[in-house]
Amino acid sequence: MKADIAVIGLAVMGQNLILNMNDHGFKVVAFNRTVEKVDHFLTSAAKNTNIVGAHSLSEMVNLLEQPRKIMLMVRAGDVVDDFIDALIPLLDKGDIVIDGGNSNYLDSNRRVEKLKKHQLHFVGTGVSGGEEGARNGPSIMPGGDSQAWPHIKPIFQAISAKTEQGEPCCDWVGNAGSGHFVKMIHNGIEYGDMQLISEAYHFMKEALLMSHEEMQATFEEWNKSELNSYLVEITAQILAYKDQDGQPLVEKIMDTAGQKGTGKWTGINALDVGIPLTLITESVFARYLSSLKQQRVDAQALFNKSITPIKGNKQQWIDALHDALLASKIISYAQGFMLMKQASQDNSWELNYGNVALMWRGGCIIRSAFLGNIRDAFVTSPDLAFLALDPYFKDILVRCMPAWRNVAATSFQIALPMPCMTSALTFLDGYTTAKSPANMIQAQRDYFGAHTYERLDKKAGEFFHTDWTGHG
Ligand code: NAP
Repeated sequence: MKADIAVIGLAVMGQNLILNMNDHGFKVVAFNRTVEKVDHFLTSAAKNTNIVGAHSLSEMVNLLEQPRKIMLMVRAGDVVDDFIDALIPLLDKGDIVIDGGNSNYLDSNRRVEKLKKHQLHFVGTGVSGGEEGARNGPSIMPGGDSQAWPHIKPIFQAISAKTEQGEPCCDWVGNAGSGHFVKMIHNGIEYGDMQLISEAYHFMKEALLMSHEEMQATFEEWNKSELNSYLVEITAQILAYKDQDGQPLVEKIMDTAGQKGTGKWTGINALDVGIPLTLITESVFARYLSSLKQQRVDAQALFNKSITPIKGNKQQWIDALHDALLASKIISYAQGFMLMKQASQDNSWELNYGNVALMWRGGCIIRSAFLGNIRDAFVTSPDLAFLALDPYFKDILVRCMPAWRNVAATSFQIALPMPCMTSALTFLDGYTTAKSPANMIQAQRDYFGAHTYERLDKKAGEFFHTDWTGHG
């Protein structure tokens, strides 16, 4: 009996996806550049399963039923291109190559076209949920050559996470590199969520002087509210974790955040297409700022800076912080969906935003109850320009507004940095300001560069220039 699919790459993600596929009754061929890892896998984690190994790409290809389905779970970048080049001469018309790594969507755009020329189908798919997700049910975001979808759908939907209603957190995203684009936005939102939670923790610790037990209890409580999510859940667990000396381990961790680049890609893309993705971009900058550890230490001493704890009813402040976090999170997701909408229009992807929210509902790092409401908003209004305009989210923003403003204003007064919570509020203030001060920018541009301007009292599209030195 031939195998259903091959997976190349036996690091943590590849191994776990293979085991997951095997659990769901699919016969999988495993291959890895370092072939000793194939034998090791077969005699360890894959022992007593239906998984078979291959020691060369040609052996792997011959073990597969047609159309062949070959999934790459290798390091993103040139490695993917090298494997594609090696596979092309071994494959037949209609075979399918899937890249499940964290590839840049522009590379996936290029690879779809390249494989089409060889009458092969390429799929670039986001896979989220880390190693645990890969083993037990990840969120899977496939896009590319749609002819591949009917062949891979039964496997991907079987191994993916499921919502509480049993719906698979995997559906066809769209053509070209749209699957990897949606995964990139997912990762950008993940950056934003993590920064927002860190800002709330910072406020609790430095402004409210809360103990780790109090902070843990608060995040646990929040996890029963509209903030219910994987990241809030693990934050409570992190706060509870004690080092061998009984002290909270989190306080011993160097305060410089690492990154692999997908948040940066999201920010760069927003700048390229002209979408004000302020929160996610701020979260990337916050990681950059965190990496300037020695400069921060020196500057704190130079400025004699300290954060002033606040007085007042602690529970009221905790509730205000909850509302500030929730409102900021809505703005982050709204901006992320705004960027997806622009990219979908620019690339003719016809993304289904309700489906995207559903794919993120389970399995992935940003999974949350909240994504169910986002899905509902886009099911009701597929053309929604901005998520915050949906009545459910608008009402929450209005409800949270006083507390959000209080937290933001207080953070400035006590010198506690909250770049994402404050920029989210500034964004909403800008978005809800019908008359912006950009008329001054246009006048300045016209003054020094004769860039011309339109007038409110004349037809749109009619441009004027003034010799600004002639009057006044
Ligand atoms: P990884 O460390 O990113 O990659 C290791 C795999 O790539 C191994 O199979 C390795 O083969 C192969 N490889 C590396 N350099 C190679 C080269 N020059 N030529 C041929 N093969 C090469 O593995 P991973 O963490 O399991 O991730 C796999 C993919 O999934 C990556 O794109 C990653 O970004 C993405 N991803 C990872 C996570 C996660 O939580 N880890 C989550 C989502 C997505 P050898 O054994 O021969 O070195």
